[in-house]
Amino acid sequence: MPLAFADRLNNVETSAIRELFKLLGKPGIISFAGGFPDSAMFDVAGIRAASERVLAEEPGAALQYGATEGYQPLREQLATFMQGKGVAGLAPEQLIVTTGSQQALDLLGKTMIDPGDKVIVEGPTFLATIQCFRLYGAEVISAPVDGEGVQPDALERLIVEHRPKLVYLIPTFGNPSGATLSLERRKRVLELAARHQVLVVEDDPYGDLYFGEAPPASLLALSAQVPGSREWLAHCGSLSKVLSPGLRVGWLIAPPELLARAVMCKQFSDAHTSTFAQATAAQYLKSGAMPATLAHVRTVYAERAQAMGDALRAELGDAVEFVQPRGGLFLWVRLTGARGQERDAGALAKRAIDKGVAFVPGTPFFSQNPDAATLRLSFATADVAKIREGVARLGQALKG
Ligand code: PMP
Repeated sequence: MPLAFADRLNNVETSAIRELFKLLGKPGIISFAGGFPDSAMFDVAGIRAASERVLAEEPGAALQYGATEGYQPLREQLATFMQGKGVAGLAPEQLIVTTGSQQALDLLGKTMIDPGDKVIVEGPTFLATIQCFRLYGAEVISAPVDGEGVQPDALERLIVEHRPKLVYLIPTFGNPSGATLSLERRKRVLELAARHQVLVVEDDPYGDLYFGEAPPASLLALSAQVPGSREWLAHCGSLSKVLSPGLRVGWLIAPPELLARAVMCKQFSDAHTSTFAQATAAQYLKSGAMPATLAHVRTVYAERAQAMGDALRAELGDAVEFVQPRGGLFLWVRLTGARGQERDAGALAKRAIDKGVAFVPGTPFFSQNPDAATLRLSFATADVAKIREGVARLGQALKG
């Protein structure tokens, strides 16, 4: 008798990205494929000092079981961190700590989605969210996105047509699109949440990674200006992209009745996020090291994003279209097919591997109507020299 797996697994496929990652072991390959921050950017000294303080000052609590809602000193630090980003008056009790923001997404799926429910996401969006919501049986509908993020009129039509359980957005430096929702559109989205009484989930792991001017305030911060919107808003934050993904520290801010149910589900999932990691993150935030760390990562990624944009313009010219990223980790490219050149990013990905450069084709990031001419390049992990070399190889792959 074969093992009788749950039917819910029939809704998800193994990620196309994972298949591609198997090819990355090839020696000498320059990878623009990952979704990781650069490990050279981790503030090892700062994290070491924080963890030593934890073991010196609070070993009993930090090595013990803890509350499902999160380690109180970290909840306090995170509330202060969010207040610093314009979320006035946020109390520690209004957020829970999650094991990465990935767990917050899973908890939202678990608390909100029944099989057959509809959810709306951006096309394209974070692949793991599509997979996670499908695992709970959701039909994942895709809303159109342009250079300023999701289009509010189209989003409203889809909300009215489908009555979704939730709308999931990455409003700032989206993964994979790099797009940022304009201030005006943010207010429109909040009005839609209030008017149609639909939960909007703001996933914001990249908002602190801006290169010049800060992006518009988060939906959460702006919800104070749009009456009735706050009770329809959930916000996922994460230390992964700015400090360390290995700490697995994220957080969820949501209306109290939703937060209480998320805590109940988390209790049966992992009881609580690692107390040691939470205590270390709390000490790190308390030490005041974060602003300098942010300044450093912003400078390095800004330089790499610029180098990648410049190299693409020089090496690929009119064969590609893209918006120069103003933050985040990703550059989203559309192949134009100019002068008969390749328009299928999947076909190009195979040729690119042969030339020694890897990227992820855009197709898997769409829950519906994939655009096969798109691809995602990460500028985060290769240095400027490697970025130039990698883009030159991409240019050769495009020429055939
Ligand atoms: N949301 C988005 C949009 C992401 O890109 C990622 C990581 N790639 C996550 C959530 C999950 O991050 P973490 O669980 O490490 O916080």
